[in-house]
Amino acid sequence: MERKIGIFILGFFLSFFYLFPLNAKDPYLNLRKKMVEEQIKERGIKSKPVLEALLEVPRHLFVPRGYISYAYGDRPLPIGYGQTISQPYIVALMTELLRIKEGDKVLEIGTGSGYQAAILAELTSKVFTIEIIEPLAREAQSRLKRLGYEKVKVKIGDGYYGWPEEAPFDGIIVTCASPYIPPPLLEQLKEGGRMCIPLGPPMGIQELVLVEKKGGKIFSRSILPVRFVPMRGEH
Ligand code: SAH
Repeated sequence: MERKIGIFILGFFLSFFYLFPLNAKDPYLNLRKKMVEEQIKERGIKSKPVLEALLEVPRHLFVPRGYISYAYGDRPLPIGYGQTISQPYIVALMTELLRIKEGDKVLEIGTGSGYQAAILAELTSKVFTIEIIEPLAREAQSRLKRLGYEKVKVKIGDGYYGWPEEAPFDGIIVTCASPYIPPPLLEQLKEGGRMCIPLGPPMGIQELVLVEKKGGKIFSRSILPVRFVPMRGEH
């Protein structure tokens, strides 16, 4: 009788681990795999390094505690101070559009949680990011350091003016919406470089725009309608 109970208990535990395989190192890996399959690949993102970056970065550690269980959902989430971390698909799309390779210098405007910066850091060791809200910048900086992304340079300031001391950049990614492309950012884009920016009024429909600098000329095309928090500052 006791042996039967023993076998029953053993069977119960074995089937439990079969149904819910625990990844001892990272219990969220399965959720990330599901996110990449269902939200990212399904919508046409093909770049292998981008897909790998999304599998690697622990998104649940970039959202406030109360939102951890929603971290891998198909939506943006609040990160405090009225700001948001973008939906995973939008992060993937903007990153893919930049076509970053190792060694490229990339500038992000709007550090927020630091999630997008961590994704960029999986692709190149030269990531620069600017955040206008000081506590968000400080939090993101220490989070990035803690998670091993210590090479990412975080600056507190108005990203409208870019980071002239580090220019030019191969890629610029703006994660807050502006009615027009800030001229300093265009200036700081390298010849052959790419910029991804949501353009439009703060509360209305914005368009995600891809900007390319070729032969000294600027080419831009709309990718899709989006909704980002507005670019702030006194510029
Ligand atoms: N990329 C972020 C999400 C950004 S939300 C992430 O991965 O979590 C947009 C961010 O842009 C907010 O944190 C906001 O404070 C910041 N922002 C708004 N205007 C800015 C400006 N002029 N310069 C720098 N950052 C700005």
